[in-house]
Amino acid sequence: MRRIAILGSTGSIGTQTLEVVEQNKDIEVTALAAGSNIRLLEQQIRKFHPRLAAVWSEEKAKELRTAVADLDVRIEAGMDGLIAVATEEKAQTVVTAVVGMIGILPTIAAIQAGRDIALANKETLVTAGHLIIPMVKEQGVRLLPVDSEHSAIFQCLNGEHGNRIQKILLTASGGPFRGWTREQMKNIQVEDALKHPNWSMGRKITIDSSTMVNKGLEVMEARWLFGVEMDQVQVVVQPQSVIHSMVEFEDGAVMAQLGTPDMKLPIQYALYYPERRPLAGDRLDFWKLKEIRFEKPDFENFPALSLAYRAGKTGGSLPTVFNAANERAVSMFLNRKIGYLTIVDIIESAMERHQVISDPSVEQILETERETYDYIESRW
Ligand code: NDP
Ligand code: MG
Repeated sequence: MRRIAILGSTGSIGTQTLEVVEQNKDIEVTALAAGSNIRLLEQQIRKFHPRLAAVWSEEKAKELRTAVADLDVRIEAGMDGLIAVATEEKAQTVVTAVVGMIGILPTIAAIQAGRDIALANKETLVTAGHLIIPMVKEQGVRLLPVDSEHSAIFQCLNGEHGNRIQKILLTASGGPFRGWTREQMKNIQVEDALKHPNWSMGRKITIDSSTMVNKGLEVMEARWLFGVEMDQVQVVVQPQSVIHSMVEFEDGAVMAQLGTPDMKLPIQYALYYPERRPLAGDRLDFWKLKEIRFEKPDFENFPALSLAYRAGKTGGSLPTVFNAANERAVSMFLNRKIGYLTIVDIIESAMERHQVISDPSVEQILETERETYDYIESRW
């Protein structure tokens, strides 16, 4: 039996992780954490019987305690609850599928407690990679990527131990506004931006995919996961999302991982690594596909990508500002408080005024997050 805990079990990655658990009969779920969707969390508790569950607010925790009073499950709340789930003693692997920087403290707690990490929560690595990677090494735990591009790169590196990576070719669909000018993007509404051409995901990452912020975060995520420089990560637009990413080696050989867009594959791969398990679903049909097209990323109309490279190359606390400003701006856009193009304007403005702290501690990262939020609140 494999035993896992899931942070963010009610979200897109969380629910697909539970589908993988259902399809394989040898994974036990020992702990679940969610934000506020206690109706779904209750159903999950009844189906998977974790020993521990957590929600964000104490009020919801009370409600949930009453709802599951007939079961043998402990309900916790807040950051203490998230950390309790991340360090639940029976779990071997923690799936980090919460959205945003809220994942930093629980991910660190899980690593310190010796848990392997199946990492979906890229914001944590983007903002605290310089702390997390050495911690992972020191604790001797595994950091297994769930993000589809990073899982692809990870699969391309199988058997290549010791061989140097020349370049990572990180593929991007380009999102729903690929080929648009900024003039055309002016009046984009929430509904337009929530339509992703190939992947069905949570709301925040869907907006991030449309602005290319997601790809920027993924460049920084790749840099930490695979120990390369920012300039060694090249974004390649590949609109059909068939090639999930590629690695070029020193001899010019390029390895790629292909497949239909289905997050269950990288999730299952992370849970069973290095074993492959059967997985139902569509298969690639090359006769139907006929061709795979490539384009250069459009840095001019998608300035978020240049800002991400700047943040990643500068390092220190600047990736935190890039990420925190985006988190706040996306939430304001989803609440219809700002226009679409303002998302990236906010990121740029927050980055410009920030005094970079090199090698920030966790406290300094969280302080930078707060300062970034305060700045945005004072201006927009
Ligand atoms: P969703 O918005 O679908 O889910 C987010 C999850 O986090 C929900 O379970 C939510 O709970 C929970 N959550 C939010 N706030 C809190 C909180 N304060 N405390 C505890 N739990 C909280 O996001 P996704 O599943 O799409 O994305 C999750 C992460 O995975 C992100 O970092 C994203 O970038 C990454 N990722 C996602 C992919 C995808 O295909 N979806 C692909 C690659 C990476 P509730 O719903 O109950 O509020
Ligand atoms: Mg991805």
